[in-house]
Amino acid sequence: MTRPFRVAVVGAGPAGIYAGNILRTRAAEAGIETRIDLFESLPAPYGLIRYGVAPDHPRIKGIVTSLHDMLAEGSVRLIGNVEVGADITVDELQSLYHAVVFATGAQRDTAFDLPGAGLKGSFGAADFVSWYDGHPDVPRHWPLEAEQIAVLGNGNVALDVARVLAKHPADLLTTDIPDNVHAGLAASPVTDVHVFGRRGPEDIKFTPIELRELGEVPGVDIVLYDEDFGRAADETTGERRAAGNQAKVMARILQSWRDREPSGAPRRLHLHFWHRPAEILGDDAVSGIRFERTEPDGRGGIAGTGEYREYDVQAVYRAIGYRGTPVRDVPFDEAAGVIPNDGGRVLEDGVPVPGLYATGWIKRGPVGLIGHTKGDAGETIEKLLEDHAELAASERPGEEAVTEFLEGRGVRYTTWEGWLALDEHERALGEGFAGDVVRERIKVVPRDEQVAISNREVIVR
Ligand code: NAP
Repeated sequence: MTRPFRVAVVGAGPAGIYAGNILRTRAAEAGIETRIDLFESLPAPYGLIRYGVAPDHPRIKGIVTSLHDMLAEGSVRLIGNVEVGADITVDELQSLYHAVVFATGAQRDTAFDLPGAGLKGSFGAADFVSWYDGHPDVPRHWPLEAEQIAVLGNGNVALDVARVLAKHPADLLTTDIPDNVHAGLAASPVTDVHVFGRRGPEDIKFTPIELRELGEVPGVDIVLYDEDFGRAADETTGERRAAGNQAKVMARILQSWRDREPSGAPRRLHLHFWHRPAEILGDDAVSGIRFERTEPDGRGGIAGTGEYREYDVQAVYRAIGYRGTPVRDVPFDEAAGVIPNDGGRVLEDGVPVPGLYATGWIKRGPVGLIGHTKGDAGETIEKLLEDHAELAASERPGEEAVTEFLEGRGVRYTTWEGWLALDEHERALGEGFAGDVVRERIKVVPRDEQVAISNREVIVR
């Protein structure tokens, strides 16, 4: 009799779901019977899609439909509200499964040692994104008191943060934003959001669709500055500009905004380039920010010009990259913020740790769009299946063992059926909204409430 190959995937975001689904398909093709459990630290699945993608990005949120289908198929069992490394250790997990795949993503802001970064009003984008996406583990209230705001970084997260800050909240009501987020944004006095890139317009890491939509936000004027364009272009700039269609499209978008007359809208979104942050100013709260102007160094990088500029702002958001967090007892590369690995096999001191794998942003760092994690998962699963015979040689207990273990430890885990109940509940809240817009859903934020609804417990208020 062949025993099923038992695999735990940790993290029910896109990376974990793709990994589970690819494993299921490829193992079946290879005639290997699998039992796959997908662990998630939050009560609900979908990771970055539920808690990282901006609420006004329904196109990207739509990826949920295919992820839903993968989980609804039934071969991958969801076990939510379980923190691996706390509720169950990696050793305990390994005693129950032949292999463990970490797909825990990158959820924190990268470190930033700029003077003044600790002042009140200086925020990491990851925290703000968690707040506006209703993550249960961040405070419900976000201090939106600034009229002028600086956003640092020229990647898509900076665009998300700047757009959500500048957008008129009525335009967000049709999304899945929680009520506390809508109320917070509605009270914001913001008039000007300034986005700063340390390099030039040719070096932006935005993508064309995301950049274009910035110019379509109602009641917000885009402001560009002539001084940032046509700066002593060096040879490398030319190469970069010619490098791809995306760059050309984005150059055209920026040019169209430069040609546009401001409409006199009540809010403005400014894009500045060649500004390297030097210091966040203020006594105990942010009152301004100082930059050094930069220029091309002729080798594809930037050099400081010695000219400094200060802007009056009362809040600074840094969107300069995410970073993975370690899982207890799993090797971690502190410098890179990833689990060290070779094509997905977890390495300790350069040597593969039997039965441990990584995929997604925790494997390769926080770069790339959601679709890229599919290829990544393919590579990791290939390695896992190469190791199958060796891993499957020892026996593991049946599939009830893990749920009995969690129950014994008093962990209130959630299930796929529980998610369907929560999903239905949130949609019903949206339908029950009495205003004159259609709200797709209203997210439930507190963890306890999510668990109670998922597990159909009676909520006592
Ligand atoms: P990113 O694309 O790597 O952009 C990071 C930005 O921060 C870059 O402009 C970088 O400038 C800048 N930066 C880094 N260190 C800095 C410093 N010390 N001072 C000033 N600027 C600094 O990262 P991300 O925006 O966090 O996005 C992560 C990934 O998620 C990306 O692949 C992104 O496309 C994707 N994403 C997609 C969407 C979407 O809507 N499609 C939304 C969010 C995120 P340099 O270029 O000079 O290093």
